[in-house]
Amino acid sequence: MAVAQLVNGRAEDVIFTSGGTEANNLALMGCGRSYRLVSGVEHSSVLNAGGVIIDVDENGIVDLDRLNDQLLLCEAPAIVSVMLANNETGVIEPIKDIVKLAHRHDALVHCDAVQAVGKIPVDIVNLGVDMMSISAHKIGGAAGSGALIVPGLGSGTGCMLQGFLFGGGQEHGFRVGTENLAGIAGFGAAAKEALSGLDGFAKLAGFRDAIDKAIKTTERGSVIFGADVERLPNTTCLTMPGVDSDTQVIAFDLAGIGVSAGSACSSGKTKISSVLKAMNASAEDSRCVIRISLGWNSAESDVETFIAAWCNLSSRKSTRKINLSAA
Ligand code: PLP
Repeated sequence: MAVAQLVNGRAEDVIFTSGGTEANNLALMGCGRSYRLVSGVEHSSVLNAGGVIIDVDENGIVDLDRLNDQLLLCEAPAIVSVMLANNETGVIEPIKDIVKLAHRHDALVHCDAVQAVGKIPVDIVNLGVDMMSISAHKIGGAAGSGALIVPGLGSGTGCMLQGFLFGGGQEHGFRVGTENLAGIAGFGAAAKEALSGLDGFAKLAGFRDAIDKAIKTTERGSVIFGADVERLPNTTCLTMPGVDSDTQVIAFDLAGIGVSAGSACSSGKTKISSVLKAMNASAEDSRCVIRISLGWNSAESDVETFIAAWCNLSSRKSTRKINLSAA
């Protein structure tokens, strides 16, 4: 119930899964649509499932004209998969417009809302999507629990779906196997907390903007990805020209600040972000980018500490050789 309420959905329309990855796979592989159109900034669990890429602009927003052209070319009804908010830049996609367009072409719309829930209000009814994925560990629940929500599933009016596991009849038969009850219970508790904490999250936009402003003032050459469009209140993704991402991550870590070189899910990988590539970012900017995520308990003093550390690191880069032990 609490998990459904997090997205203004109904409990009988929820299929519990092992996480966002499985929910995304179930939506794309189980919907019976062989024409898949997926935005270029999707998480690897959508991108690697295969499909034709929908172009995005330099802010990471889906190009609706291009999507319209692509839908016209599909020889059978398609499925369109676009995330609500991006995990690296925080950019929010125009899902309602995408749904309107896709439904005109009889296409289904799946939305990966893993990164959005708990950070902005998410209303599956208002968005009009046919399927939505969410994940527990992004809202403080345990890893290994997630859900696919399919409006109308419980009443038999939702889109057609075929699970890919064989076994008993759990989760309406769409995701069979004994459920991870502890994980689901924790997901429910986390969902309640996340819903009640939304106002606190909205306030983080002020902190995020203060960071962006201070950095642009200090270093005009810094690129803030998606700065011109709506983003999650807690996320900013920006470059420190001339200092590669890994060096920044280590230097901030030594200063007691955790930042990421890309999305948390792809940490450990050193390759250039596919999200930034899709946004047509230059190789140099992609090499020097970090993602900053504020938490519900981030305070003004944390923001000041981060800005001071950023300015300090940036001011020492002129030698192009930063002595990390002095960070
Ligand atoms: N979708 C997005 C946008 C994500 O950021 C992630 C990773 O955290 C996932 C899907 C995968 O979710 P999970 O880790 O629950 O499999």
